[in-house]
Amino acid sequence: MVELTDVSKSYGEVAALRGATLSIDYGELAGIVGPSGSGKSTMLNMIGTLDRPSGGTVRIGGHDVGALSDRELSTLRGGLIGFVFQQFHLSSGVPVLDNVADGLLYAGPALRERRRLARAALDRVGLGHRLDHRPHELSGGERQRVAIARAVVGDPRLLLADEPTGNLDSRSGAGVMELLRELNRAGTTVVIITHDRDIAGALPRQIEMLDGRVVGDSTRERVTAW
Ligand code: ADP
Repeated sequence: MVELTDVSKSYGEVAALRGATLSIDYGELAGIVGPSGSGKSTMLNMIGTLDRPSGGTVRIGGHDVGALSDRELSTLRGGLIGFVFQQFHLSSGVPVLDNVADGLLYAGPALRERRRLARAALDRVGLGHRLDHRPHELSGGERQRVAIARAVVGDPRLLLADEPTGNLDSRSGAGVMELLRELNRAGTTVVIITHDRDIAGALPRQIEMLDGRVVGDSTRERVTAW
C-alpha cells in the first residue's frame, strides 16, 4: 500500500525527512510515533500524497507519486485515501449529513446518492441518529466520528489519521481508537500518527521516527527476534 524508499524532504534549510524508508502492507494498522519535530507530519504529507519528496521515491497503491502530474495526484488521492485530523475540520453550520456527503463532492455522484452513502457512513460510526445536528451541537468524540465518517464515505483503501485523539478526553479517545480498529478489521489500511506512546503501544505495529528517519519498527524487530 505504502512504499517509501530513502525519502528526503527539505523546507529551505530545514531537512524534515532525511532518508526515510518504510513499507506498509494492505490491511495493516500501524502507528507512526516520535517526538515533536521528528518528521511525523511531513511523513503524513508524503504518504497522503499532499506533497512530493525532495529525494527518494514514494509509491502509494503502486503509483510513483513523483511521476504523476498534480491532477493525476489529486485523482489518486481522492479515490484512495481518507484523512482524519486532530482538529476535525468540519464545516460549522452545516448539518452532519452534508458534512459527510461533501466528502464525495469530487467523486461525482449526485446529491441524493451522496446523502445515501453519507447516511450509511454515519450509521457505521454510530451516529445515524445525529444526521441533522450541526457540529457545535456534538461532543468532541462525536465530531471526530463525523470526521471519520467523512473520511471513509468514499470507501478509501487507506485511512490516515493525524493525532485523531489529540483533542479528546481519554474516554472519547478510546472510542475513536476502537472505531479505527473496526474500520481496519473491515479491510481498510489504517495509519495513525501520534506522539502518545500508550495509543501507539496498543497498535499491532509501531513505526518510530527521530530526526527525519525511521529508527524503529516493531514489526521488523519482531521478525528479527523470531
Ligand atoms: P512532527 O510532525 O514530528 O512534529 P514535522 O514533520 O512537523 O515533525 O517537522 C519536522 C521538521 O521540519 C521540524 O524541524 C519542522 O520545524 C520542519 N518543518 C516542517 N514543515 C515545515 C515547513 N512547512 N516549513 C519549514 N519547516 C518545516
